[in-house]
Amino acid sequence: MTLPHVSNWVNGAHASSASHHLKVINPATGAEIATIDATSRETVDDIILKSLDTFKNGKWSKADPSERYAVLSKAAVLLRARIPEFAELETEQTGRPIREMRAQLGRIPEWLEYFASLARTHEGRVTPFKGPVINTLTRLPLGVVAQITPWNHPLLIATKKLGAALAAGNVVILKPSEMAPLSVLKLGALFQEAGLPDGTLQIIGGYGRETGKYICENTHLAKIDLTGGLLTYQAIAGKAGENMIPITAELGGKAPVCLFPSLDVTYAVKAALFASFIASGQTCVTGSRLLVHKDIYEPFTELLVKRVKAFRVGDPKDTKTQIGAVISQASVTRCTDFVERAAKEGGNVLCGGKPTSVNGQGFFFEPTIIETTRGSNLSCNEVFGPVIALIKCDSEEEMIEVANETSFALGASVWSNDFNQAHRVADKIDSGIVWINGHHLNDPSSPWGGWKESGMGKENGIEAYESYTKVKSTVMNYGVQPTWFDDEIENARYG
Ligand code: NAD
Repeated sequence: MTLPHVSNWVNGAHASSASHHLKVINPATGAEIATIDATSRETVDDIILKSLDTFKNGKWSKADPSERYAVLSKAAVLLRARIPEFAELETEQTGRPIREMRAQLGRIPEWLEYFASLARTHEGRVTPFKGPVINTLTRLPLGVVAQITPWNHPLLIATKKLGAALAAGNVVILKPSEMAPLSVLKLGALFQEAGLPDGTLQIIGGYGRETGKYICENTHLAKIDLTGGLLTYQAIAGKAGENMIPITAELGGKAPVCLFPSLDVTYAVKAALFASFIASGQTCVTGSRLLVHKDIYEPFTELLVKRVKAFRVGDPKDTKTQIGAVISQASVTRCTDFVERAAKEGGNVLCGGKPTSVNGQGFFFEPTIIETTRGSNLSCNEVFGPVIALIKCDSEEEMIEVANETSFALGASVWSNDFNQAHRVADKIDSGIVWINGHHLNDPSSPWGGWKESGMGKENGIEAYESYTKVKSTVMNYGVQPTWFDDEIENARYG
């Protein structure tokens, strides 16, 4: 059977197929579902050079903000109308349950609406410059920017990044993950229908270590916006540094979920299930460390294990399925390795712990809870799968210490009915995002990003929009006389 091929989206059309292709696999069945271009360095360089011309011609980079508003708003409308189709495609290429994809994608158009509004309403500043001088600050687009995105939320992350970059007037080179690129490759035609000038959004397929590398090594870029792993950041940072290309890096996490005794145990367990097992634990903010106060630890653990064992692991297309596939065989192996090492370190596997399958196929891993101690491999390192560390803490102080003792600092949640305690703990947690009595909550207006090895810079919010702009300072003098070199002038102003 010939697989459908989806070529790059370049200059407003699907380009003719590249000489090398790569296969996209449905992780829930192991079946090949499509091929995409494995884009060469030569093609990447050519596309970026043409994109520079597009930026310079000003059709989008100098477009009136009201025009950018109109295009992004229309793209939101078009996207909203096609959510059911996109949700099915996301499920097919990621193995994530359809009920998750429908819920997640239902909100994605809001990102385009938010950044459309920012394009229209964002204002420059006038500084309190001393004297008869007016200093205006205006924000300009950066140029040709690269966006390198992961497979776990293909459309959400691409839309977040695109919204900000396009609203600010940039030309975007978008490289989706080779594991799940199909939904993102459809965005080109959608934005064209919304009125985006051709060549403003270029979507390029390929492996990260090849095409991704070629993109990030190009000297014409004005910014790289990466969501991915630390190793990927480290692979691109050197060259980007040499080329003076700034990087926004949204990297991994090891989010603690701090559960205090003021909680009803049933509620605490529901909180943990939600934090830990969305996307089979494959999100950067997965609540991968359950830190449970000793006073509720026993009943909490008993109920948690009962609920996890009852999860419906199944075909992601089935609306009743709660836990879908993991992305690949490599991910199954990674989960297995974490479980084996945790057991060797004295961890107690309370449930799960093994690869599994659905209808005898696919890449699945049993939802797993391992009782472990702070400092263990599982407590400190990102699994990016459904293998969750459970750690008993004796006090609030200990919980804060444990929460802060990994190299990551992206997301964390604090669950307590004691108002003072919730705020006190949230205050002391070293993390880019802290939820109180919530987890995974996200909004286009709310800056998203981590510290330490979780990255730098923000998605979402005014911060993201501004990160796609450069500031121009215009200083207008209406009174300072240029008398500096006149003879014997007192109080002449120089600066
Ligand atoms: P990854 O780093 O393997 O890949 C991410 C992207 O980088 C892909 O498009 C890939 O092709 C590309 N890439 C890989 N090597 C490259 C190279 N040498 N040069 C240029 N590009 C390269 O990550 P992944 O497996 O797709 O995603 C999982 C990781 O992403 C996890 O660590 C997760 O925590 C992180 N993540 C972070 C956030 C966040 O908001 N902070 C969100 C989602 C995922």
